[in-house]
Amino acid sequence: MERFVGRRALVTGAGKGIGRAVAVALSRAGAHVVALSRTQADLDGLQKECPGIQTLCVDVGDWEATEAALNKVDDIDLLVNNAGIALLQPFLEVTKDAFDRSFSVNLRAALQISQIVARKLIARGAPGAIVNVSSQASQRAVLDHTVYCSTKSALDMLTKTMAQELGPHKAPATQPGPAQTGQGKATTFLLPISGRADGQ
Ligand code: NAP
Repeated sequence: MERFVGRRALVTGAGKGIGRAVAVALSRAGAHVVALSRTQADLDGLQKECPGIQTLCVDVGDWEATEAALNKVDDIDLLVNNAGIALLQPFLEVTKDAFDRSFSVNLRAALQISQIVARKLIARGAPGAIVNVSSQASQRAVLDHTVYCSTKSALDMLTKTMAQELGPHKAPATQPGPAQTGQGKATTFLLPISGRADGQ
């Protein structure tokens, strides 16, 4: 756990569930944690439990608001793209709103926040890591999960392309690993970033 001491970590969707647990664990391991979520009351509760945690209340489905919020945050070394929603509808009843909302939160936000963090890491030549929290639903069809499964499959491919472009040029950088949760299995993909375009 010593590797987290003094590192700056941003965890999205940190108000509840997996994200909250990750934020608490990182804070206890000595990281400076920025916990981002959508409901201020959840962030207040988190801060009460871990006073050292910095909080950021923003809806990551809102591109402009997310950019503005992250511009106020100091350099980040570790990013956990965890915020996600599951709006369940049978295939024949999937709405445009559920589709757009799900893809903006589960996929587009991971891309946008990773861009912001990775650009700064590369600019300062610092090592870092990005974890995208996927799901076994990315690989398996689940009833009424058309949109959710699709967002997580797309997130897996986003992770692979990020690994290709952000990782050291010499080596494949994706390291998948499982995380058991209350309701199912969340798959995490770790992208080590060399911070240098030559992969050194
Ligand atoms: P959760 O308990 O519902 O918590 C999600 C957190 O993300 C909440 O704090 C929520 O805030 C926040 N959030 C959602 N949309 C947001 C947005 N647009 N902007 C900012 N914050 C937002 O979820 P979870 O079960 O811990 O799941 C976390 C991740 O693991 C998700 O990506 C999920 O797909 C994945 N996953 C979970 C499981 C599982 O068994 N739980 C299995 C497979 C994958 P609000 O409550 O205020 O909206």
